[in-house]
Amino acid sequence: MLTGEEALRYSRHIKLPSFGTEAQLKLKTARVLIIGVGGLGSPAALYLAAAGVGTIALMDGDKVSLSNLQRQIAHFSSDLGKGKVLSACEKLQALNPLIRVETIGEFLAPDNAEQIINSYDFIIDAIDDIEAKFLINDVCVKSGKPFSHAALLQYEGHTFTYVPGSACLRCIFGAPPPEGTVQTCSQAGVLGAVAGLLGTIQAAEAIKYFTSIGSLLTNQLLTVDALTFSFSSIKVSPNPNCKHLCEL
Ligand SMILES: [Zn+2]
Repeated sequence: MLTGEEALRYSRHIKLPSFGTEAQLKLKTARVLIIGVGGLGSPAALYLAAAGVGTIALMDGDKVSLSNLQRQIAHFSSDLGKGKVLSACEKLQALNPLIRVETIGEFLAPDNAEQIINSYDFIIDAIDDIEAKFLINDVCVKSGKPFSHAALLQYEGHTFTYVPGSACLRCIFGAPPPEGTVQTCSQAGVLGAVAGLLGTIQAAEAIKYFTSIGSLLTNQLLTVDALTFSFSSIKVSPNPNCKHLCEL
């Protein structure tokens, strides 16, 4: 049941067609892991906290630096030098003290990925490291764990959602590109608001997953170019030769 305070706090959700108290209760018991608390993870975490997702885990081993503040909106100037998970945790709890926020102050690695990912119901890939993105993909596919992927550079980005049986990152992009062949945001720059846009889409996908409202971005790659604000949705299919056997 929702308390009176929760019913008022989430009243604009509850009034939504097909949402109601039932969907809000599903969010209350939901457990989301956000890997990377930067440009994508900040808006995703803030929206999920505001939405009343009962447990949000923040995972990042990095500290807040000055060049982060142009887009990583969970961190303020007063947080410089602080661990990103602590900085974001403070904002999330100030925004919504009714939810539980867990902090994992380390980077995702092959030796911790499986155990951590398996403790949550939905994963948000909000990390900027390509190798780590493939690690998240591979562990989630192996464990049958749904996740939202997003990536961006300069004025462009893309996102898709994986659920067991749908196209995974390897179905769409194959293997990680050779090291050093892809530019990073620190090399090529990024418009902060594009990260905000994609992180917000990731939060909405998690909410839709838990509440079974609408249809997810599965088997489609949503791309956005902020220079013209053209969005496109490219149909993708599970690859029968995908080495991670994303079989239908
Ligand atoms: Zn696949």
